[in-house]
Amino acid sequence: MKKSGNGGDKNKFKELKRRTQREIRKAYWNYIDSIVSPPDLNKPQEKPNCMKRFWTFIKHKRMASTSSIQTALKTVNANIQNQISKKTEGAQNVRLVAVTKTKPVEDIITAYECGQRHFGENYIIELEEKTKHPRIQAICREIKWHFIGHVQTNKAKNLAAIPNLYMCETVHSEKLAKKLNKELEKAGKTEKLKVLVQVNTSREENKNGVSTSKVSDLVNLIRTKCTELEFKGLMTIGSFDHSLADGVNPDFVKLLKCRDDVCRRCNLKVEDIELSMGMSHDYEHAVELGSTNVRVGSTIFGARDPPKQSQNQEVIQEKEEESQQYQENNDSQHITKATDQEEVLENNTTRLRELAI
Ligand SMILES: *Cc1c(COP(=O)(O)O)cnc(C)c1O
Repeated sequence: MKKSGNGGDKNKFKELKRRTQREIRKAYWNYIDSIVSPPDLNKPQEKPNCMKRFWTFIKHKRMASTSSIQTALKTVNANIQNQISKKTEGAQNVRLVAVTKTKPVEDIITAYECGQRHFGENYIIELEEKTKHPRIQAICREIKWHFIGHVQTNKAKNLAAIPNLYMCETVHSEKLAKKLNKELEKAGKTEKLKVLVQVNTSREENKNGVSTSKVSDLVNLIRTKCTELEFKGLMTIGSFDHSLADGVNPDFVKLLKCRDDVCRRCNLKVEDIELSMGMSHDYEHAVELGSTNVRVGSTIFGARDPPKQSQNQEVIQEKEEESQQYQENNDSQHITKATDQEEVLENNTTRLRELAI
């Protein structure tokens, strides 16, 4: 067979390519317009026919994603209620936090319009961008944000400034609690910020949260010294390799034990201490064990795209340089900086681990 390599074909191809690019540009700008007001497809169109088809396509896409988020939310809520109804003792209120990290603003709005109010994010920059988004500001007026990622002390200021921040679930050190308190004081918020203490129940080396033996001290500090923080409970992420087939999740059991310990040592009642545990694959199990706050992402919004390789490389390089820098400072005996250095190294390990998830 003869390949289409002659001049006429080439020109035809170029012309088609130009036309396609023109249409894509037009479609892009129309899409931007439509975010403000979608066109009425029944009205006579000035636009060419292909535009009409394009709009039908977009409309169906949107309807498909709306209905899948709506269905998933209904299912997750029903599953939670089902677990609660099996309980024979004690009332249990469970809050569903819809985790929208890496997901677009449209998904947040869709879930909000289905009645969801609590949303979770784990990167400050992403949370800042989403809270500032004009559509979120216009539509999601009663949104309640949960911060569920690692907070570096130098980002406490950014966190304190987030509008509609309902809860920080990841207070992991006295240093962070004090800094967050100070930044909230400066920001002059009228309400206290609800916080959970993040507990490292899995004792993994890449530590996430405070070790179980230090939880009560941290809770005491928050309750007695941090006037801008309101202690609400405990949170764990847990190890990622536990399979439900192996029975009860040991991280959840440890968090329950930890709560008993805090009750005794801080003179609190069990029902005064919330437990944030359970994600997409194990939220029902977590509710069964007594969780009051589940953080569910991919089951509602679909699987997340893995972070882009180039972004990973960038972060990894940046973190490695930072660690190196601190190592060097350490070598030159800046002893007062030792805890800072430890924290930077710890933060970096956490960040690298998050990227690997
Ligand atoms: C991403 C994330 C979740 C949600 O994970 P899914 O498995 O998608 O439900 C929950 N908690 C934390 C801390 C997270 O970072």
